[in-house]
Parts: sequence; structure tokens; C-alpha cells
Amino acid sequence: MRIKKEDTVLAISGRNAGTGRTGKVLAVYPARDTALVEGMNFVKRHTRKTQEQPQGAIVTREAPIRMCKLMLYCPQCKRGVRIANRPLAEGAGRGRECKRCGHGFDA
Ligand SMILES: [Zn+2]
Repeated sequence: MRIKKEDTVLAISGRNAGTGRTGKVLAVYPARDTALVEGMNFVKRHTRKTQEQPQGAIVTREAPIRMCKLMLYCPQCKRGVRIANRPLAEGAGRGRECKRCGHGFDA
């Protein structure tokens, strides 16, 4: 999995592309290959009438984005970067690293 919860990502395709906007990953849905990103990909939801909202309401909220449209954002390069997989310290498994500057995302 390239993208994990709490990561900061950049949109590289779709409606949010080119805005240079980054957001924090709130949730990842591996089965659907999508992720929910804070402040990205807003949709309007028409909610049903409830006791508190007798008229119903139109709320704006985030919708999951396909992960192929996201890139991990490197705080050092200040751009979306490709990721390499590198071994961490003894017994710590492997972690993600920026291919440009070597910044470690999981260390
Ligand atoms: Zn970097």
C-alpha cells in the first residue's frame, strides 16, 4: 500500500488536479482502491428530511478519490513524489522513501 492514513497527498488527476492542493488522508479503502482526503473532492449530498432538518439539506462533504489519482506529498521536495521501498532499522520491516531526496515517510 503506497498511501496510508494520516499521509499528506497531492491530487494529480481528476477534478482536483493542478490545484496544488494537498490534504491529509482520513481513511483508506483498499477494497475499492480509494481514499478519503481532507478538503478534497467535495460533493453535495442532499440529505433526507429529519426532525432537526424538516426541509432536508444540501451538505458539502468529501467523497473518496481513486488512489491512482493521488501522489504522496514530500515535505522536503514540496511536491508529489514517487516512492521507493527501503529497509528500516533492524527488524523494523520496510518503509517508504522519497525517490528524489530520500526523505523517509515511515521511519
Ligand atoms: Zn523528497
